[in-house]
Amino acid sequence: MAGKLYIVATPIGNLEDITLRALRILKEVDVIAAEDTRQTLKLLNHFEITKHLISYHRHNESTKCELLIEKLKNGENVALVSDAGTPGISDPGEEVIKRAIEEKIEIIPVPGACAMINALICSGIDTKEFTFMGFLPLNKKLRKEKLEEIKNINKTIILYEAPHKIKETLKDLKEIINKRKIVLARELTKIHEEFIRGNIEQLIENAENYKGEMVIIIEGNNEIKENFLVNLSLEEHFNFYNNQGLTKNEIIRKIAKDRKTNKNEIYQYFLAK
Ligand code: SAM
Repeated sequence: MAGKLYIVATPIGNLEDITLRALRILKEVDVIAAEDTRQTLKLLNHFEITKHLISYHRHNESTKCELLIEKLKNGENVALVSDAGTPGISDPGEEVIKRAIEEKIEIIPVPGACAMINALICSGIDTKEFTFMGFLPLNKKLRKEKLEEIKNINKTIILYEAPHKIKETLKDLKEIINKRKIVLARELTKIHEEFIRGNIEQLIENAENYKGEMVIIIEGNNEIKENFLVNLSLEEHFNFYNNQGLTKNEIIRKIAKDRKTNKNEIYQYFLAK
């Protein structure tokens, strides 16, 4: 019988943020595939776990992937971990997961810390809908394309960034986000954890002081939503909200607000239909 592939989240700073289940799985599996074996060894030593480690990172992903698949096919259970947080989220993982699916190997998530989710939930910015975009590309053309995308997204946007690139990234963002809210979530779960909720000019001014790991949360472009809605016919506009399960009165109020018009006019229109 084939083994199981466990995708195990590990802490993003505070070592208490590992689940009891994650510890049990790490103890029970035959082998742990780790992004950086030295980093994972520190974690395992802390919890007094001794286990065979295999390095699995971006630069050896294809070759090590096949080795892991072989082991799984031979009945060994494998846990995949990254340096911190959830594997596969701006971290290696995808490739072996895709191969495991092809080989009909069972894949089991073991949930835990993830920087983007924790940054988002405490940001104070809309959590109902969001787009995670990882790190902005360094390549100029691709970066420009991503920035253009951010400019026109009406959902909350989440970015990862390294401290030495934060100033440059904030400057690029300034060109496209106008007055939209922005929050920097820094050193989550660590001693110097901080949520910086200023405007973008203030953030740029103080950028030299922002050390450690950080996540950027940007408010969606609400104007896009308005423009999109007012370009619909009144019926389409009605259906847009109707599909969200709103009552007739709520829909009429929202339509009037979107179109900056009197709610009675909208009401009369639908009454006459
Ligand atoms: N897989 C990880 C996760 O689940 O969040 C992310 C790995 S990615 C290579 C590293 C980036 O995640 C950092 O550059 C930073 O943007 C973000 N990050 C990781 N730990 C963080 C922390 N403690 N506080 C703020 N951001 C963090």
